[in-house]
Amino acid sequence: MNVLVTGGTGYIGSHTVVELLAGGHTATIIDNLSNSSELVVDRIEQITGKQPNLHIFDLQDKNKLAEVFKKESFDAVIHFAGLKAVGESTQKPLAYYRTNIDSSLSLLEVMEEYGIPTLIFSSSATVYGSAPIPYSETSVVGQGITNPYGQTKYMIEQIIRDVGAANAALQFTILRYFNPVGAHPSGLIGEDPKGIPNNLMPYLSQVASGKRKVLSIYGSDYKTIDGTAARDYIHVVDLAKGHIAALMNKHTGTETYNLGSGKSTTVLELVNAFSEGTGQAVSYELAERRAGDLPEYYADAKKAEKELDWKTNKTIADICKDTWNWQSRNPNGYSS
Ligand code: NAD
Ligand code: UDP
Repeated sequence: MNVLVTGGTGYIGSHTVVELLAGGHTATIIDNLSNSSELVVDRIEQITGKQPNLHIFDLQDKNKLAEVFKKESFDAVIHFAGLKAVGESTQKPLAYYRTNIDSSLSLLEVMEEYGIPTLIFSSSATVYGSAPIPYSETSVVGQGITNPYGQTKYMIEQIIRDVGAANAALQFTILRYFNPVGAHPSGLIGEDPKGIPNNLMPYLSQVASGKRKVLSIYGSDYKTIDGTAARDYIHVVDLAKGHIAALMNKHTGTETYNLGSGKSTTVLELVNAFSEGTGQAVSYELAERRAGDLPEYYADAKKAEKELDWKTNKTIADICKDTWNWQSRNPNGYSS
């Protein structure tokens, strides 16, 4: 298939492009490089022996978007592009609503204009808000979402469902990711956060590499096995493969799938697994809870296994090993 990948030079997008190319598909990327590097394309070529096309512009520019659709013919679109920093979204809510919603609307309009039926959208477990765990696709969504980033995901999901319901020829898939971590086993692509990382895994690996002094573990009095918060960590290569499985699945209208492992791991368990698996000490301190954090959530991942024939294969040990391989080979990310 010829697949358009928005945000394809980003963390999850780049791993998905690798899986697309490895699976014999072609990939065209649109990315404004606001949170990624052009070098990713060369790294993808080193892994797969194939170069994806890259168009550098902002997805909100509908005219440029239409030009790409006019010149190239696509069978499907995977839509990763968007702003994703939860904390920043509370400081700059308008930028988040404008960028994430506007670019999704432009994309859907141009897809409609050019008759492209298939869309896969990157949503997040954050849409479940305060639903009981484990989160299942039938759980209530939209209640207790604590930040504008999560609201944009919830709103775009709704837009996609409404558009999907208006035309029986469309095949839309919403994928709700749990906590993507890890890196490609080659160590050539991985997560490259700008500035001080907000997320656990990049922060932890930068402490291990000596770039940061100490990891603050946010909260040690949660009702979990060791008091630290628990999440469902999913290796980014498993996640990327979930997109290929979704692409191959035939359905009409809009289907929604959780992409998670179904297992819950605490912060302390992850820190210990990292130290044991890599031999790198991670100094940490127990700190106050972080505002807006939930104690624990994880996926009910049965629907994806049943309908997409997809489940995670990689372990927490693989996650730690591949994260360290990426971090130690690229101590300053793509600018190393
Ligand atoms: P990322 O920032 O690494 O990738 C997003 C890419 O989109 C970047 O390359 C960025 O330059 C590009 N981009 C942003 N705004 C753009 C615009 N207006 N026009 C064109 N390109 C634009 O993020 P990621 O971690 O790979 O996440 C990919 C998608 O998955 C996002 O939609 C994110 O919200 C979603 N998601 C991520 C996580 C996570 O923890 N990483 C969890 C759930 C959902
Ligand atoms: N966390 C932490 N220290 C950090 C970053 C994160 O203890 O420096 C915790 C955070 O409180 C949460 C878990 O790690 O319980 C995962 O956080 P992350 O930001 O990676 O993802 P989230 O689940 O918030 O989307």
